Amino acid sequence: MNKVIVTAAITGSRMMRDVAPYIPITPEEISQSAIEAWKAGASVVHLHVRDPETGLGSQDVELFRRAVEPIREKTDLILSLTTSGIPGRNLPIEDRLAPLALKPELASFDAGSINLGGNVFINTPDFLNQAAAMMAAAGVKPEIEIFDLGMMMTTLRMRQEGKLADPLHFQFVLGTPWGAPATPKAFLHIYEYLPPEATWSNIGIGTGQLPMAMMALIMGGHIRVGMEDSIYLRRGVLAKTNAELVERVIRIVREYGSEIASPAETRAILKLPI
Ligand code: ZN
Repeated sequence: MNKVIVTAAITGSRMMRDVAPYIPITPEEISQSAIEAWKAGASVVHLHVRDPETGLGSQDVELFRRAVEPIREKTDLILSLTTSGIPGRNLPIEDRLAPLALKPELASFDAGSINLGGNVFINTPDFLNQAAAMMAAAGVKPEIEIFDLGMMMTTLRMRQEGKLADPLHFQFVLGTPWGAPATPKAFLHIYEYLPPEATWSNIGIGTGQLPMAMMALIMGGHIRVGMEDSIYLRRGVLAKTNAELVERVIRIVREYGSEIASPAETRAILKLPI
């Protein structure tokens, strides 16, 4: 059986302390939480950083640097840095792609536009072409985030045009209020279009977190958990750390009879560095 990659999504860009009292905000809190997630068994961390003044997501490279340096010093984690900024606020392209300067092994690549809150999370074809070209030039593998079938079609077209190189790595984002729901039927509908050699992982937002993790487990995929996607450990019980969410899913993976991929094994599975 394939070993399972567990990614921890540490903080996201929007959830504030009023609803998520334990969410990491400062670069120091974010790196500390990532290191704890690694100790719990995560091999990849998906990072946003927050403006310490406003608490909202930021694409400031210095903030990323302060979060990334301790992680690189103390762990062998694979870094997946966000290029979304604050989805729906649509920061300038150069700001969104600025974290590539830190040469993470992975960076998020949102393969299309979608409603988000009261806004639109804009990812035009022009932006996607630039992002794909810059990632290729920087040796960063795109982690292709798919919220609906249209984004899969966009990805397949870019692959055909030679803008995205095999083997692709997908992160299916299911259960946002505006995209595909976190249901087996919706997931399978998109999954059927997965190109050959691709690797993939599932995100279930909110109550979808565990169901989608279970789908990935039985189908040979990989799993993302973390406070960016769900702040609850169970109904009415907040997770106090990202490590708790990682530990729980790893317990389930092991009970199922699968093993967890180490960072070195994850690099081999994802063919990193590219
Ligand atoms: Zn993210």
